[in-house]
Amino acid sequence: MVATPIGNLGDLSPRAVDILQRVDRIAAEDTRHSAGLMRHFAITTPMLSLHEHNERQKTQLLLQRLEGGESIALIADAGTPLISDPGYILVREAHMAGLRVVPIPGPSALIAALSASGLPTDRFSFEGFLPAKDGARRKLLEALAQERRTLAFYESPHRILDSLADMAGIFGETREAVVARELTKTFETIRHDNLGNLLEWMRGDANQQKGEFVVLVGEAPKDEGGEGPAAEACRIADILVQELPVKQAAALAASISGEKKNALYKYLLDRG
Ligand code: SAM
Repeated sequence: MVATPIGNLGDLSPRAVDILQRVDRIAAEDTRHSAGLMRHFAITTPMLSLHEHNERQKTQLLLQRLEGGESIALIADAGTPLISDPGYILVREAHMAGLRVVPIPGPSALIAALSASGLPTDRFSFEGFLPAKDGARRKLLEALAQERRTLAFYESPHRILDSLADMAGIFGETREAVVARELTKTFETIRHDNLGNLLEWMRGDANQQKGEFVVLVGEAPKDEGGEGPAAEACRIADILVQELPVKQAAALAASISGEKKNALYKYLLDRG
């Protein structure tokens, strides 16, 4: 599993060059795309393609070759293989077959963005690409709205504005976030602000909508609305109080959500 650059060719490690030169074959996501990288480093190892549409069939062929004693390097178009890229089936099957799988670590847009983000990195959730359809995308974002870990998304230039707008709408405009664009390339931009400001900035500058993006979102505020109980607990209490007396609604919402009964009781009384 050989990581390759996400832009700057200087990021291909000497160990990666050595391995790519020495293996019997390179399985590449797009052989034409990777030909440039190989030319640059004078690597002449034969390549074959392994992409999301042929991974199942090609895996069997690759396993046969590996079992026959060949060494094969897997690369993606950019960055670390298997991170929003093909290879999972191959690696899994290789383990099942008792073959040795060796990572040659290197660039990944996810880790590069996180490390430069200024957001908490002790716990994070990588969500890959958001669904293309508006409804599915919003549903997923709603499910993530209370997430306390830093959220990481990959995004394409076609959808960056829609996704940022949905994030601002669902997570709130004041939520801390980072747009990391064109990492390691000429127009690298890393902007740390809140979602509302990031959206406004990107809408106002068409150049910022171009290229490749990682979007990182900071943790959900603990108690939305200041001192009160968490938003999800309030939502449950709001529903229950339509059918039950306040005291009972607060008690039931507390046992469902884990929130304090007294806090929910006070919340329901205050909102009248
Ligand atoms: N395997 C790759 C990795 O380890 O980063 C990711 C592959 S995924 C198919 C491609 C996505 O990664 C892009 O759409 C973008 O979201 C992100 N990406 C790749 N290169 C990037 C870069 N130089 N700057 C920002 N994001 C990048």
